[in-house]
Amino acid sequence: MIQAIETRYAGCRFRSRLEARWAVFFETLGIPWEYEPQGYMVNGTPYLPDFLVYPNTEFAFWLEIKGVFPSEDELAKARGLAEGSGIPAYVYWAKLEPPAPDFALTDSTYHGSPINRYAWTNESGWRSYYAKLPPPWQLELTPTSFRFNPSGKAEKAESGFWWWTDCPHCGRALIKLNGQVGWCPSFDGRNSNSRPGAWPGKTWPVNGTYPRFAHRTQRLLAAYTAARSARFEHGESGA
Ligand SMILES: [Zn+2]
Repeated sequence: MIQAIETRYAGCRFRSRLEARWAVFFETLGIPWEYEPQGYMVNGTPYLPDFLVYPNTEFAFWLEIKGVFPSEDELAKARGLAEGSGIPAYVYWAKLEPPAPDFALTDSTYHGSPINRYAWTNESGWRSYYAKLPPPWQLELTPTSFRFNPSGKAEKAESGFWWWTDCPHCGRALIKLNGQVGWCPSFDGRNSNSRPGAWPGKTWPVNGTYPRFAHRTQRLLAAYTAARSARFEHGESGA
C-alpha cells in the first residue's frame, strides 16, 4: 500500500494536493474555511470531513473533495453528516476549473420545457426520472457535486450543477445551482413579505434579466487559476 505525501499550506497539513488547492481557492476569494475541524461517527463509522466553509455562519456547509466520482459509501457518509450536523454537505468531484462556458440564455431555454427531474447519478451519465431529458444546453455539461441537505429530503443521491457563484449583491462566493444569481441573505428585510432566512415571497430579488449567471466572474476565474497553479513545498507543481 502506498501513502500520499501531506501538503502544507496556510498552517494546515492536507492529505492531498487537490485539497490544498481548494484551500488556495478559498484564500484567494477571502472565504473563511476550516480543514478537518471535527470528526463524527456516521452510521457507526468514524468520518472526518474535509472542509467546513463559512464556519459559524448561516452560510456554513461541508465540502468533501474527491478526485474521482464518489462511491456509494462516500455519499452515504456525506448524507449522514448533513442530517446529523444540520449543515448541508457537498461531495465535490469535478475538476478545479470553471465548470461551464459563459451563457446567454433566455428564461425558457434555461429551464427547458417542461422542467424535469433528472440527475447525473453515476459515471455513465444522466438518469432521467421522467421521460424528458434536461434542457439541451445542460446536456453538454458535466455536473460537479452531490449536495445533501440536513432535511434529508432527497430520496436518491444526485450529482448536480453546483457551481461556485459570485453574488453581485453581497460579494460572497457561494455554491449555487447552475451558477445562478438568486436569493441572497442581503435581501432580508427589503421586502415587506420577507423574513430572515426566507425567500422574499414572489418578489424576484434580482433586478435585470433572468437567468443571470455569475460562475465566470473575473474574481472566480482568478481564484481557479491561483488554485491550479499554486506551488507548495519542494517547488513541486503536482496535481
Ligand atoms: Zn449574496
